[in-house]
Amino acid sequence: MQKENLKYVSSGKAKDIYENSSGNLVFEFTDRVTAFDGKKKSEYDEKGEITCKIAEYWFKIMEENGIPTHYIECPTPTSMLVKRLDIVPVEVIWRNYVAGSLLRRYLAGDITLPQGVGTEEGSPIPGGMIEFTTKFEAVDRPVDTDEILSNGWLSEKEIEYITDLTKRINNIMSQELASSGIILADFKVEYGRTPDGEIILADEVGTPDGCRFWKGDDFEKGVITSLDKDVFRKSIGNLTVAYRELFSKLQRTNI
Ligand code: C5P
Repeated sequence: MQKENLKYVSSGKAKDIYENSSGNLVFEFTDRVTAFDGKKKSEYDEKGEITCKIAEYWFKIMEENGIPTHYIECPTPTSMLVKRLDIVPVEVIWRNYVAGSLLRRYLAGDITLPQGVGTEEGSPIPGGMIEFTTKFEAVDRPVDTDEILSNGWLSEKEIEYITDLTKRINNIMSQELASSGIILADFKVEYGRTPDGEIILADEVGTPDGCRFWKGDDFEKGVITSLDKDVFRKSIGNLTVAYRELFSKLQRTNI
């Protein structure tokens, strides 16, 4: 994409961020992928383009469902124009099933699971659960609401508002995915404040970089087949192939 009128801002794990002359941000979705706090890295052809399209797909669905977001438009197949926000320094994780760091922390004896929840990958968490982690520390670390409040990162009312929005995002995505035969195991979202102080959805939503998606028919047979970054984390296949399969299943829903 044309970068002459853009000012470089920063690079995240998978995106490069620029500012345009109107003060909005441009996310350039690259082919980069990292896992385990950047310890594992690679690149996959077309990953950036597919991920950008999936994020665009979900942002439009969120807006249609009344979730306020920073999305403006996608000027190229790998870039997204978004409103500049003051990012809330907390990442929000919603879990419908046991997986990932939740299971790791349980097995390490650091946490207990909610009452009645099984202790294997894929055990359902009835009603779901929310977790928060730090955003601007070298390594993301779980934080409880007391720490969020005492650091002044969010007020009690804002935590309630963000919890409600995240639940709604979960319901929207879970329902939409169910019609494609996909289970939403968990996901991460981020929020930011507009200059008016409104909290809206930021970063990206519904991408396989930030969610766990499992094939529903395999899950019914007791097998977890991932269509997300776990393919890379666990070295169990080609990431682009998995992301492409996810995107084609999503598109079929809307035809
Ligand atoms: O690793 P963990 O199990 O905590 O991740 C929960 C969900 O949040 C997963 O879908 C993962 O891809 C996502 N996540 C993320 N960015 C992070 C941490 C987790 O997108 N920094």
